[in-house]
Amino acid sequence: MLDEFSNQVIKTDFSKIYGQSELKHDLKSALLARRHVIIVGPPGAGKTTIAKNVADLMPKRVLNDCNFHCDPKNPVCPECKTKSMETKEFEGDDLFIRVQGSPDLTAEDLLGDIDPIKALKYGPLSVEAFTPGKIFRANNGILFFDEVNRCSEKLQNAMLQVLQEKKVTIGSYEFDFDADFIFIGTMNPEDESTETLSHVFLDIFDLIYMNYPKKITTEMNIVKTYGNKLGVEFPVKLLHHTVEFVRELRDDKDLEKHPGVRASIGLYERAQSNAILRGSEKVSYEDIHKAVQSVISHRIKLKPSVKYLTSPTDYIKEKFETYAKVNDMSNSENEEGDAP
Ligand SMILES: [Zn+2]
Repeated sequence: MLDEFSNQVIKTDFSKIYGQSELKHDLKSALLARRHVIIVGPPGAGKTTIAKNVADLMPKRVLNDCNFHCDPKNPVCPECKTKSMETKEFEGDDLFIRVQGSPDLTAEDLLGDIDPIKALKYGPLSVEAFTPGKIFRANNGILFFDEVNRCSEKLQNAMLQVLQEKKVTIGSYEFDFDADFIFIGTMNPEDESTETLSHVFLDIFDLIYMNYPKKITTEMNIVKTYGNKLGVEFPVKLLHHTVEFVRELRDDKDLEKHPGVRASIGLYERAQSNAILRGSEKVSYEDIHKAVQSVISHRIKLKPSVKYLTSPTDYIKEKFETYAKVNDMSNSENEEGDAP
């Protein structure tokens, strides 16, 4: 028998995400089977958006207003087991708990901690002595673990224990962790500053791959939907070239880090501001040209072979000017058609 959530999963087309039909299919399949997943993809591809979309699929629920968000019919936390608690209605964002992965994140931050003074007073395994970490609030909801590969191996091991054995170890104490949640992690394959995830850790997940939009029209739609509109005209041909320029950089052999969709959105917004500052109601080639270095330079990384010959700012300026020349970009601004 499929429950309400499963039925929502089957029905959804994750409308907040454009394109990405394979990712959507794989994610739906993993969610139906209640598998833990890690979405692998470059920054700005929409990993957070799609995870939030999953939270929106969860049925509205009445849960206890405790640190564990217990189901009133089946409380798991010591507090709810001993006394009756106030309830609250939860939906969407309330069921979405976000954890930012970083090397500094400790098991205590995530799982909780024991207050030594209270432990002496009430006993080390008492409810009073235990301050539950963030992970408990994901009970009956979604634990969104952004950049899970940035976490220390120690934290990976703690997570492994929680997800697999449903146990939490804090200091020398071990607690049962009866919490039930959907784990959605993310990982950026281009990120080098990270720990590699151990095989044992990876073994409990399904990996779902997300990429830059396949078609330029999809990316232009994303830009127009998620970018700020400042009330000036952006000729459609110019926007096409702007987005295409960013997309060509993704295949650039001199780069080892590529600009994502946020770069396209950045150029879209900053070109409009530049037009306004110029006193114009319409974006021109110059407005985009002026935005390129500030929006793109830090989003790319040059390969060592070119790194010593030029800087990212000079590199991007030159690339853009060449692109503009080849595509006769300065003549595109007068063509008919506004990007709405
Ligand atoms: Zn509770």
